[in-house]
Amino acid sequence: MTEEESGTPHWLFGDQLGPHFVDPARGGPHRDAPLLMIEARSVLRRRRFHRAKAHLVLSAMRHRAAELGDRVRYVKADTYRQGLREAVGEGRVTVHHPTSHAAHAFVRSLPSVRVLPARGFLVTHDEFRTWADDRGTKHLRQEDFYRWVRGTHDLLMEGDGPAGGRWNLDHDNRQPPPRGSSDLGVPAPYHPRESEIDDEVRSDLDRWSRDGDVEFVGEDAPRRFPATRREALAGLRRFVEHRLATFGAYEDAMLAGDTTMSHSLLSSSLNLGLLDPAECVERAEARWRSGDVPLNSAEGFVRQIAGWREFVWHVYWYFGTRYRESNTLRHHEPLPGWFTELSSDATGANCLSHVLDQVRTTGWTHHIPRLMVLGSLALQRGWDPRAVTDWFHRSFVDGYDWVMVPNVVGMSQYADGGRMTTKPYTSGGAYIDRMSDFCGSCRYKPSVRVGDDACPFTAGYWNLLHRHRDRFEHNARMVRAVRGLDRLTDLDELLEQERHRQD
Ligand SMILES: Cc1cc2nc3c(=O)[nH]c(=O)nc-3n(C[C@H](O)[C@H](O)[C@H](O)COP(=O)(O)OP(=O)(O)OC[C@H]3O[C@@H](n4cnc5c(N)ncnc54)[C@H](O)[C@@H]3O)c2cc1C
Ligand code: SF4
Repeated sequence: MTEEESGTPHWLFGDQLGPHFVDPARGGPHRDAPLLMIEARSVLRRRRFHRAKAHLVLSAMRHRAAELGDRVRYVKADTYRQGLREAVGEGRVTVHHPTSHAAHAFVRSLPSVRVLPARGFLVTHDEFRTWADDRGTKHLRQEDFYRWVRGTHDLLMEGDGPAGGRWNLDHDNRQPPPRGSSDLGVPAPYHPRESEIDDEVRSDLDRWSRDGDVEFVGEDAPRRFPATRREALAGLRRFVEHRLATFGAYEDAMLAGDTTMSHSLLSSSLNLGLLDPAECVERAEARWRSGDVPLNSAEGFVRQIAGWREFVWHVYWYFGTRYRESNTLRHHEPLPGWFTELSSDATGANCLSHVLDQVRTTGWTHHIPRLMVLGSLALQRGWDPRAVTDWFHRSFVDGYDWVMVPNVVGMSQYADGGRMTTKPYTSGGAYIDRMSDFCGSCRYKPSVRVGDDACPFTAGYWNLLHRHRDRFEHNARMVRAVRGLDRLTDLDELLEQERHRQD
């Protein structure tokens, strides 16, 4: 960086809030460079976000501005373009690679903006492109990528091989919840304490809603997720010291009375840029090396961050702007109003009702309710994948374009026809029954597919297989399930029943 550039302002987006976004030693702005932050109201107007999400993002931005003091100019504007004009006119600005195609195209279109490399991920765009191009196929697999990242970043390695001799400990990490317990009995996750900045944010959001300027969905209870680097580090510490040990075994389990179980609740902190993924995986590995947590837990967590999170980020850029429009299964149904309103009492399905209630009150659930309850329902009902992506993006505190598009279009809705997964993620009620305690008190029965007691997930599963039989019977991982259709003597009745389902 030249002397002249020491005076060039550097723009921080609202998800670039940690120290690694202003570190000159890591390709960031000069240590004397003035900083610029823009709070653009149009972002909130564009979509009906969960209120807790709007609160978290504004709180985190304003807390960061307060920490940076005189070094930052914090502009409240209608749009980014207006904010930029107000702050620097036509002057030059640097910015780290933004996290959405739209924001990236916008900064690239401005001649006065110089885009610095992305931060907040382990693997660079160039490294991923080389890895993916070398595959020589348009189907990319997280498992291959993850192993490559483990090796190249020396994560949980012993010599040239994986610690413990196996790359994948998923087999140990898919245990159902302990029977007869309503919770896992692990220490509670970290809870931040609100500050005066949160009061200001809440009063702004109240005023904007009252004035009809913006509309929200969901509840804005006391803030549950970190808004500062200090809070995020406290959340990370609490997780690795008290909760990581039990993370692995029950990673995929669900309990109605213990919604967080042993999950880290760090996604929003990582996605706001308050934490760097490297420090998260390094701390988890250190806990295993010191003998404090079992390998399956450390590996499970490292896989989530160094595997899934990295993979999803790179798939978003590698597959390009049109990937979001994929709709291989030609699903076009709109999302029903009760679902978009998060009306948990509109459905008799106990699992769905609990999960929707959790989304409404917190803006968060762990990955299995997202994938095997919400996403699976959307897939079975044939809802439009773009609308489903938009819903997830708006309704979750950790939702950003880059993370939602691959997770929803690719992983949960199979709308890309298998470019990033080997088969659709969906199931009948038997899976939910095995992995949760939801079914016992449900008005439906997971084993019943037709009649008043028919479980909507069981019936929905067969309905989906029937609809896409031609496609799924050519998938080696689906063919057995599809052939199961031939054994159903009540298939016609089931299809008729599902045509009229309301909840
Ligand atoms: C349909 C669907 C939508 C999702 N949408 C989002 C989203 O908008 N934002 C988001 O951060 N995650 C998303 N995920 C991934 C995952 O569900 C959340 O990251 C996780 O539940 C957050 O809770 P946690 O921090 O306790 O995660 P943990 O279970 O403790 O996992 C640790 C970390 O791994 C990372 N991670 C794990 N899986 C993924 C993944 N598939 N994609 C990206 N990061 C991952 C997250 O940073 C997470 O904090 C989605 C998954 C599905 C199936
Ligand atoms: S019976 Fe079906 S609808 Fe009811 S909780 Fe179980 S899986 Fe969900």
